[in-house]
Amino acid sequence: MSYINFLGVGSAFSIERGGNCSAFTYYENNSLLLFDCGETVLKKIISEGILKDISSINILITHFHSDHIGSLGSLIFYCDYLGISNVNIIYPKVKKMLEVIKLFGVDKANFKILLPEEVEDFKIETYNQEHSHMESFGYLCKFDETTIYYSGDTKSVPPEIIKKLLKNEIDYLYHDIHEYGNNYHISIDELAMQIPESLRHKVWCMHLSDEISDKKILKLGFNIVKPFK
Ligand SMILES: [Zn+2]
Ligand SMILES: [Zn+2]
Repeated sequence: MSYINFLGVGSAFSIERGGNCSAFTYYENNSLLLFDCGETVLKKIISEGILKDISSINILITHFHSDHIGSLGSLIFYCDYLGISNVNIIYPKVKKMLEVIKLFGVDKANFKILLPEEVEDFKIETYNQEHSHMESFGYLCKFDETTIYYSGDTKSVPPEIIKKLLKNEIDYLYHDIHEYGNNYHISIDELAMQIPESLRHKVWCMHLSDEISDKKILKLGFNIVKPFK
C-alpha cells in the first residue's frame, strides 16, 4: 500500500487519470502534509472533506508549473475560511514563493512560508531536479519510522537518492515518469536502468500520461499510484 494518498495521479494534460498530481498524508492527529497543489486539487480537497478536523497544514511545493501550484492561492483562502490556524507553505526560496502567492491575489490570509529545514514536525531534505528550464525540487521526508522521497518533475534521479535507496534508507520512492522520456521527465526505461529489480517494489510511479502503459510499469516491477477513493 502507498504511504501517501493521491488526489490525482495524472500528468498536466491527463483527463483519464484524474489530472494533476497531488498527494497528502495525515502524519499526526489533525495535521496534514500536502505535496503540491495543482489546478484541480482544491475541488477534490473540498469534495472529499480532506481538511475536516485539520488544524495544521503543511504544503510542500516542488515547482511552479500550474499542474503543481494552480490551486494554491484558493487553497490558502479556503484554509483561512475554515479557520485553520497553522498554514505553512514550504519551499526553498521564500521570496520567490511570496511573489507567486501575491500574484494569486492572496494578501490578508493567514499563512507562513517556511524553508524545508524550518519544518519542525518531521525532517525534510531538498534535492535539485532537472526539469527543462524550470527550477524544481524533490524532497526526502523523514517521519518517525518512515522515510519517503517525492520527486518534483524531473528527467533524472539524484545519485544521492539512488544511493540511499540501495542502502535501504528510503521506504517509499515516488517518481514522475514519461513513456519515452524528454527534457522534463524521466522515461520508465531509464528509471528501470537506474533501479535494480530487487528494489523496484519500493518505487511508486506517478504523474502519468493517458498514453503510458500500466502493464509495462507493473511488468518492470514498479508500483503505480492510484487515486484516493
Ligand atoms: Zn512540471
Ligand atoms: Zn507536472
